[in-house]
Amino acid sequence: MGGLQRAVVHADLDAFFAAAEVRRRPELRGTPVIVAGRPEGRSVVSSATYEARRFGVHSGMSLGEALARCPNAVVLPVDGAYYRTLADAFRAIIFRLSSVVEVLSIDEACFEVGVQENWMRELWELGQRLRQAVRDELGLTVTVGAGANRTVAKIAADHAKPDGLLVVPQGAEARFLAPLPVEAMPGIGPRTAAELRGYGIRRLGDLASAPISVLRLVFGRRCEEMRERARGIDRQPIRPEPREPKSIGQERTFARDLFAPKELADATAQLAAAVTRRARAEGYQAQTVSVKVRFRDFTTLTRQRRLDTPTADEATVAAVAYALIERLVRDERRPVRLLGVRLSGLRPLAVQLALFDTQTARRLLALHALDRLAARWGERPVHVPPSVLAHSLLRPAEPPRPPWLEG
Ligand SMILES: [Mg+2]
Repeated sequence: MGGLQRAVVHADLDAFFAAAEVRRRPELRGTPVIVAGRPEGRSVVSSATYEARRFGVHSGMSLGEALARCPNAVVLPVDGAYYRTLADAFRAIIFRLSSVVEVLSIDEACFEVGVQENWMRELWELGQRLRQAVRDELGLTVTVGAGANRTVAKIAADHAKPDGLLVVPQGAEARFLAPLPVEAMPGIGPRTAAELRGYGIRRLGDLASAPISVLRLVFGRRCEEMRERARGIDRQPIRPEPREPKSIGQERTFARDLFAPKELADATAQLAAAVTRRARAEGYQAQTVSVKVRFRDFTTLTRQRRLDTPTADEATVAAVAYALIERLVRDERRPVRLLGVRLSGLRPLAVQLALFDTQTARRLLALHALDRLAARWGERPVHVPPSVLAHSLLRPAEPPRPPWLEG
């Protein structure tokens, strides 16, 4: 029995945006689906299901060309807020498996795990657990690669796509890489690959044994590192990011100073709606609610309250904020020229969804669906008198079942 050995796992959601669309439109399962964005006024494929890829569609291609290749594809617009919510839930699952996680993109992360005794069995089981959790909790598929370092784990994941799992045995890194084309190595694009082929270097095995003088012509100062990586040696560490400690706030200066409780409550509710909508769009809930009140004479006071449970629910935030504001106004007995509401102690919304608190989760998902409608049709009116705030704090309204909340 040796000590704990370090392994790296690379997880990459399959055809993420397109799969996310199929997830909420099950009738599209098994059909070619293209998600297209308009980065510069020109529609470009940002994701496509494997059914569309079979026709030669790939991301980055113009939508016109994609439809020429695959005329029957269903084309859907990018819905960033929805994908971010899923991506946060994906990361929350990964954080249950490791605390050393590097997020590489919206749908890709690598992380470090310890292996006790049996490299293949333990990594295989961990990979299966991750894939099962993503399937059960998100309704998506993820491909997982595992190995001795990040290069090997990443290439293993690429190799196993889609919906696959590949564990590279310890000590077999060079043997795994040798037969793969040089383009399999992250950082080697088509141009570099063509240059390498000019020197007779086609496979990673060729790269692993190429003379350094030749590799220097292609890679410059990175020549040693690239040859080492082709040999399955990679010392790049996982760089865990600090979980973002930012806050989300909004303030409003009124055209006419406010004093009546109804006016203050309405203004508070609107600010609470705005900040919670932003928090949900960015995939966060807040542990702390702060308020700022500026009175007619410019005296400015702030108060904050730490919540028992983090929330992204606008009624909860409005109720807490209003209670703080009401007390300040009652004590100061002066009209108010500015109000602000701020959320801090932000954490991923997904953590709460993962707790299977279904009622809260449903309410948040319904709010998220309303956010998407609002983004499309404009703001929805928010007028919530304090009595309703107190009521909704106790008993969240039963929202309509959002279309993408599957059983
Ligand atoms: Mg992916």
